[in-house]
Amino acid sequence: MNNHPYAWIQASLATIHHADWYRSVQTIHSLPGATVLLSGQEVINFASNDYLGLAADQRLQKAAITAIKDFGTGSTGSRLLSGHRELHRNLEQAITSTKQTEDTVIFSSGYLANLGAITAIVGKRDLILSDQYNHSSLKNGAILSGAALVEYPHCDIIKLTEKLQEQRQNYRRCLIITDSVFSMDGDLCPLPQLLDLAEKFSCMLLVDEAHATGVMGETGAGCVEYFGCTGRELIQVGTLSKALGSLGGYVAGSSALVDFLRNRAPSWIYTTALSPADTAAALAAVEIVQQEPERRQQLWDNVNYLKRLITESLPNLKLLPSESPILCFQLPDAATALKAGKHLREAGIFAPAIRPPTVPTSRIRLSVMATHTYLHLEQLVEVLKRMQL
Ligand SMILES: *Cc1c(COP(=O)(O)O)cnc(C)c1O
Repeated sequence: MNNHPYAWIQASLATIHHADWYRSVQTIHSLPGATVLLSGQEVINFASNDYLGLAADQRLQKAAITAIKDFGTGSTGSRLLSGHRELHRNLEQAITSTKQTEDTVIFSSGYLANLGAITAIVGKRDLILSDQYNHSSLKNGAILSGAALVEYPHCDIIKLTEKLQEQRQNYRRCLIITDSVFSMDGDLCPLPQLLDLAEKFSCMLLVDEAHATGVMGETGAGCVEYFGCTGRELIQVGTLSKALGSLGGYVAGSSALVDFLRNRAPSWIYTTALSPADTAAALAAVEIVQQEPERRQQLWDNVNYLKRLITESLPNLKLLPSESPILCFQLPDAATALKAGKHLREAGIFAPAIRPPTVPTSRIRLSVMATHTYLHLEQLVEVLKRMQL
């Protein structure tokens, strides 16, 4: 008998290796951008969430530096103690104005925003209905809340309706949770239908706009705007760390909801406030998103161009359905996906293999950015052609 209490860790790691699920970090030695220096090699970057190219923008850098000079590097406490600055409130107001909600509260990450919101608004007597492909932060928020948790098949309104008919009456409150842009697939949730269902069955609806903020909708307000649902009552969560090029998360909704979260969301109350630099950079980004729609236009031009190139010259590539800058092609297994990722990398393309347990089926995931040139996209397609996928 093996009595060593930590011996299982090595054994588990060996299992992970064996399944081709093992993961490790890769070092980038340059500013974020359409091309990056990855372990000494210049590669075209299709692995970044920096959709609008703001993470290296001079104006964000300048805002962050000024904030550090004025307020220091750390915020020194939680928002309710010594951590609150006017910058935090300015950012919350800027997001409120973009989303056209009543109020917003910013968290130290999108992950913490989901944990905080979900655990605050439902508990043991309540029901959560969760899309099967939801992000980890939604899934773990649901588990942590202690509510009864039921997954429904991906974007399946009929199955969701059935589950509501069967189970809604057995619980006090009900919350439907979903990504708006699905982060590992690139497709969209059926938001108008979800809102109608939520109304019909007296449920709350929480949508995670992490990949939609700055990207979807006329003004970049997200899928709520894209689907023409602005002003309808729901809970919008998102991140400051993707299109907004900074770090942090937010929850936007009614004044009552936001006020309640400031009193009841443990991952907001008991953690240090967002740093002045991150806050100021995100604020600069929200302003740029509002003032420079041409960045979003360029992003969508690029997405459409790449989709056209792939359809025309790679008819055998199995692209998953996508209505966002996230394009995935499916591969038979984790080992094939890893090999494809490695080939791409050797050919100067940085596009990660996404494998279980992150997703049910292995794939290569490409994120398009506004800062890619047509030449970058053409080079990607040339490499894919040579790989004969
Ligand atoms: C990235 C992401 C998050 C987490 O946001 P962070 O700010 O990086 O913690 C949450 N939800 C979804 C859908 C995401 O893609």
